[in-house]
Amino acid sequence: MEVETVVGGKTCPICGGDNNCGNVAGKLHGTCWCDKEVFPQGVFENIPSNSTTKSCICQSCLEKFKKGNLSEATL
Ligand SMILES: [Zn+2]
Repeated sequence: MEVETVVGGKTCPICGGDNNCGNVAGKLHGTCWCDKEVFPQGVFENIPSNSTTKSCICQSCLEKFKKGNLSEATL
């Protein structure tokens, strides 16, 4: 049985910033900001495929993606 709840880190795989993941911070699952957000499928395509750690993207990258200007992020 694989454990899927392990989060690799608190660093955004897109911009390298702090993703403020509540799960990593030791809070109860479901208290993270991302729990209230909608993640479009395409946003995960921006995560480098060589990023094997299961990290959340940060809130600012999500907002940038929603506004359609993620390409201007610091990649
Ligand atoms: Zn980010």
